[in-house]
Formats: sequence, C-alpha cells, structure tokens
Amino acid sequence: MSRLVARVRRGANAGVPLYPHIHKDGMYVASHTKFEVDYIRVESVGDLEALVRAGYKARMSNQELGRAPSLISSDNIQFVGGNTVLLSTRLEKLEEEFDLDRDSISKHRREQALLRAYLMNGNATEECSICRRTLPENMLVASHIKMRSHCTNDEKLDFDNVAMIMCKLGCDDLFEKGYIVVQSGKVVANPHRTSTPALQCNPPIFRSSYS
Ligand SMILES: [Zn+2]
Repeated sequence: MSRLVARVRRGANAGVPLYPHIHKDGMYVASHTKFEVDYIRVESVGDLEALVRAGYKARMSNQELGRAPSLISSDNIQFVGGNTVLLSTRLEKLEEEFDLDRDSISKHRREQALLRAYLMNGNATEECSICRRTLPENMLVASHIKMRSHCTNDEKLDFDNVAMIMCKLGCDDLFEKGYIVVQSGKVVANPHRTSTPALQCNPPIFRSSYS
C-alpha cells in the first residue's frame, strides 16, 4: 500500500501537502463528482488507493490548513512508497474475508463498490449489460450472475465473469427476480416465469435477446 499525497496548487498555501481526508464517520471518500450522493465511502487507505489508481478522485485535506477537504483528481495524486494496490487485489483480499464472515453488510457494501468500479474500469458511466443504455455509476450495480455459494474458488476470483453491470432502472431487479436469465452467455426472457403485459412491454428488456 502507498501513501497518497497531493499538493495545494495555487494561492498562499501552494505546495502544502494534502492527505486523504478522514470524514466524521471515519471513512475516506473517492468519487467521480463533487456530489455527496455519488461518494464512495471506504474504510481503508488501501481501498481508496485502488479506486484512485482506477481513476477516481479523492477527498483530501491538511488539518493544519483548517480548510474543507478538496476533491483531487487522480492525475494530481502521488503514490509514495509501498506496493501498488489495485481493485483486483482488494477484491481478492475481500474474498478471503468473506470466507470468515459472509453476512457482514459492510463487506457486501464494500464488495459492491469495488466490484462495480472494477467492472466499469474506473469510468464514471457505463452501459447496462442488459438494456445497453449508458448510465452514471450510481444508477448501476454489479449483479452476481451465479450465487456465491454455488461458485468454485476459481469462479469466485474470476471478477470479470462473476458479475455483470446492470442498471437500477429495472434490469437488476428483473434479473434478481428471475424474469430474465443468462443462457449460454446470453440474457433472455425467462419463459417459465409468470409475467404481466406491462413487464413484457418493457422495451429495453424484452425486445430481443442480448449477447
Ligand atoms: Zn438496463
């Protein structure tokens, strides 16, 4: 793990170092935008480093300046010393922790944030795998294709294939509730599932099969 350092760029304090800001809830924040609703809160500098290396900005501050934290772009953050920490390494470590304590809500929340960021390659927007609409990160989720308990150890660590990016505009729920299923790598409507006309009319979902 590295130390993250940025510098104040202008004004009287130019050159003063900034460090990851610890918020009141004890968390660090990575984000693509300045809007609090988009903040990804992480407990450790390791997770923050992985997100910043993937392209996220980080909220950083210096206590001595007594100023509100700034949202610093990844290009302006230096990684000092230590081993490089990537989203994949954090996800691998998280998998080990899941084996010890699977039901922790905070671990699931953490997995969701890191896995979604990993599958989105750190981008702020991405296409939903089902309806193909491009949406901002907070309207998307990393949806597990196969139940974790049914996965082999190798499958659990195959982060590219363990989950898909789906939207919160319906696709994730339709998948979760079994109205659409993955068959031979394609997403198709589930013929065995009782539906309603309104659901079947949902154009992005049932228009055709998606590969
Ligand atoms: Zn969708």
